[in-house]
Amino acid sequence: MLTVKKIFKKTKIRNGTLFAKLLFTVLSFAVMTLLSYIFLRSTIHDQIRTNTNAILDFQQEKVERNIEEHKLPVEIYSNMIRDIIISGGNADDVREFIDRESYYLQNSNVHKDCFGGLFGYFETLPGGAILISSEELDIPSNFNPLNHSWYTEAVAFKNNIAQTVPYPGLFNNESAVIYSHAIFNEKNELLGVFCMRTKREALGKDIIETTLAQGGNGVLFSENYICLAHYNPEYTGLHISEIPSDMVLFEEDLKSGNEIHEQEMTNYKGEQCLIFFRTLSNGWHFCVLIPKASYYQSLTSATFFLIAIGTILASVLCLVIVRIEIARTKSETESKQKSAFLSIMSHEIRTPINAIVGMTEIGKTAKEPTRKDYCFTRIEDASRYLQGVISDILDMSKIEANKLELSEIDFDFKQELTKITELIRFSADDKRQTFSVAIDENIPPVLIGDSQRISQVITNLLSNAVKFTPDKGKINLSAKNISQSDNKCKIQVTVKDNGIGISPEQQGKLFQSFHQAESSTTRRFGGTGLGLAISKGIVEAMKGEIHIESELGEGASFIFTVELNISECKELDSAAEQKPDINGIFKDRQILLAEDVEINREIVGALLETTLVKIDNAETGLQALNLFSENPDKYNLIFMDINMPEMDGYEATKKIRALNIPEAKTIPIIAMTANVFKEDIDKCLEAGMDGHVGKPLNMDDVLDKMRVFML
Ligand code: ADP
Repeated sequence: MLTVKKIFKKTKIRNGTLFAKLLFTVLSFAVMTLLSYIFLRSTIHDQIRTNTNAILDFQQEKVERNIEEHKLPVEIYSNMIRDIIISGGNADDVREFIDRESYYLQNSNVHKDCFGGLFGYFETLPGGAILISSEELDIPSNFNPLNHSWYTEAVAFKNNIAQTVPYPGLFNNESAVIYSHAIFNEKNELLGVFCMRTKREALGKDIIETTLAQGGNGVLFSENYICLAHYNPEYTGLHISEIPSDMVLFEEDLKSGNEIHEQEMTNYKGEQCLIFFRTLSNGWHFCVLIPKASYYQSLTSATFFLIAIGTILASVLCLVIVRIEIARTKSETESKQKSAFLSIMSHEIRTPINAIVGMTEIGKTAKEPTRKDYCFTRIEDASRYLQGVISDILDMSKIEANKLELSEIDFDFKQELTKITELIRFSADDKRQTFSVAIDENIPPVLIGDSQRISQVITNLLSNAVKFTPDKGKINLSAKNISQSDNKCKIQVTVKDNGIGISPEQQGKLFQSFHQAESSTTRRFGGTGLGLAISKGIVEAMKGEIHIESELGEGASFIFTVELNISECKELDSAAEQKPDINGIFKDRQILLAEDVEINREIVGALLETTLVKIDNAETGLQALNLFSENPDKYNLIFMDINMPEMDGYEATKKIRALNIPEAKTIPIIAMTANVFKEDIDKCLEAGMDGHVGKPLNMDDVLDKMRVFML
């Protein structure tokens, strides 16, 4: 992953545009995430509230049903006892009834867990007022029913059932809730009060358990805020203020009838909870405590989810922006480099042309032959320089198009080096530079490879060394065999100088095409900035690598390696070194030359004269097409210019290839054009051509192609 610093360096952003874009993206996502969170929070929150309300409704209904279940037998039994008393029954009849029903309730499924007994105080039975109970009672001598709330409340409630808070023992210490009902005759005279005791522990048991299953805790309070049931049984029976939690804070609100819903508090364990209160129809208060973390769990998960999604999307977008920015900056840099290249090229081409035009003018008017000769020499120098520039462009196009063809011929490495050093020594001597050469004795005498291309790299490095080293400087060329196995060896060549050197920042870019260390270099030293890029392309095509070691002002060392096959031959026949004889080699061969410019046709004709090849000329693509279709078996090869009137070379080639004759598919067509860029070469091949030679023509190139396709 690129660090921000690296990205900024890579994209060369100085004005902070990228930073502003990234900041905007991150902030947009942050705002979007926040808004989605707020929206989601309110939706989820509503959902949680609805769920909690449903739980509370369910619990409330359960508690109320529980109470009704206890009230029902009290109402039925008090009516039956009323009938017994009115029909003249005595205390024994009532006791018998109470005992029987008590036995029944003790064994009934609904009541058996909470039933605590039946009893009643009856005032009008024969024999006087009497307290009758299903359990054994130790009745105190000063017993007075008016001292007991079950009696006073039942009388006050008339026909409704009264219900006491947990009673700390009627006549024993057992704490129970008592449901009581007053019995009246037709004249509305009080006959007595009938009661049922319910064990307090059984109360609210279900509530607590169900609520726990929902993730919360249940508490039940009487109307007087006595705790009837608590998830911690220790607190049952205590007043709300005696429970060690914040619950007491809500007592006042409850008294004033305010709704307590989703309020925050700390429970007796010190946990943050949300509290919900409901007041039941009998006046009791039912409360649920839910730990905050579990209540908001879905919200927390949603928040994490949103943050994660937001972060991922923002990062992806930032990455895309950074990539686009890098690509944009790269293309801007490339286009700047191309325009810089064009201006360099224009300079590099105009200078020799200026010399050629000028010297031709001077030569034409010069009277003395020595002066004419001088002009010819200068014209020749300028033409060679111009040709060098053009072949650099051609080489670069080939390298970029991956079309660099390497020959595989035997050559004497040391001999090649000697040839180069002899040439370079002239220019080094001009600058009075010391030029030393060291060649490893272990380099095999004959190697196999493209000696011309290797020489091109070394010559380029040495010319640069001479060019960028001041007068009287030192230049050294050394070659070593650094590894050898079977029939292969790796040669390392170092060109070292003590010249102007190159700064570390510039070093990385030097091997890119059209690059010079500084623009001022061009003005001072000339050059196209293609040499090192071409050298790199050649070296890499030979499975090697090239690098530079340099410090500004301290000179430079260019080091490259190439992998070469070792020839079995131990000494090279010097005759093989000589250029092959081309006299009459294409006798009886016929080419078709499509070329609109007369002088170009003339030059090709003159250059190929000694080969005895026959040439038919066509001045347009259309003429070439007609000549070929009239006599398809006449020609061995077509040289095709691209820019021609009437029909260009691409179209002519396509039309020839489309002809319905066998020769149309096989006839070699070679582009012969001044269009030498990668795209141009690719376009020629796409149109159906078999190869490409660039203008100005390199005769060796032309002859090579002719040999390949015609011999
Ligand atoms: P050219 O020399 O035609 O401009 P090159 O690709 O051969 O193109 O070199 C590119 C640039 O590298 C040169 O313009 C120069 O700035 C730098 N350079 C190359 N060789 C040396 C050297 N030996 N010492 C200092 N600078 C060098």
